[in-house]
Amino acid sequence: MRIFLLIFVCSFFSSASLAAEPRNIDELKNEIRAYVQSGEYAAAMAAEAARADAWLIARAAQRTSGERLAVVFDLDETLWSNWAFIAEEDIGGSDARWNAWMAQGKATAIEPVRAVYRTARRLGIEIFFITGRRERLREATERNLRAIDCAECAALIMKPDAWKGTATAFKTAEREKIVRRGFVIVASLGDQVSDLVGGHAERTFKFPDPFYFTP
Ligand SMILES: [Mg+2]
Repeated sequence: MRIFLLIFVCSFFSSASLAAEPRNIDELKNEIRAYVQSGEYAAAMAAEAARADAWLIARAAQRTSGERLAVVFDLDETLWSNWAFIAEEDIGGSDARWNAWMAQGKATAIEPVRAVYRTARRLGIEIFFITGRRERLREATERNLRAIDCAECAALIMKPDAWKGTATAFKTAEREKIVRRGFVIVASLGDQVSDLVGGHAERTFKFPDPFYFTP
């Protein structure tokens, strides 16, 4: 018995000391570039957008009288793409570089998600943008929304400049406020898990994002 225990303890420690080597960052970057350049990324975005679009149409058809339906969109890597910047930065980029890029208002529409926005407009579903971008980027973000013809919305909700909590906490609380105002959030669309967890949406739609992680 004691020998077995000793073998167990030894094997435990030897395996613990042989943790798997992390993925090679250059190989990983190559995979990400190939994922985008092959069209797989766009196809995955389009497939999820099509599911969201179909759901909005189905849900609007079930609308009861007086029901105020709403949809929540995240912005970065959901409604629009920063790939031009991400590629330029070799899939990196400091906070300062990101802020400088976002201030330009040059993110490009992700077409199938913009189509979901247009479907919501057509169906009279109110649009709320909830973004992790800070208030100090409001002017540039509104300019970017106008540039991609998506400026019509009930609200553009941005993190306060001094916000210190997680995106999950911020976004969940903001959806809760929308619900308290009497809206039914029928769908929430985002590229991060933090866009979608926390409830207050009938359905969530998760878009791919191998570029960065927002807790
Ligand atoms: Mg995003």
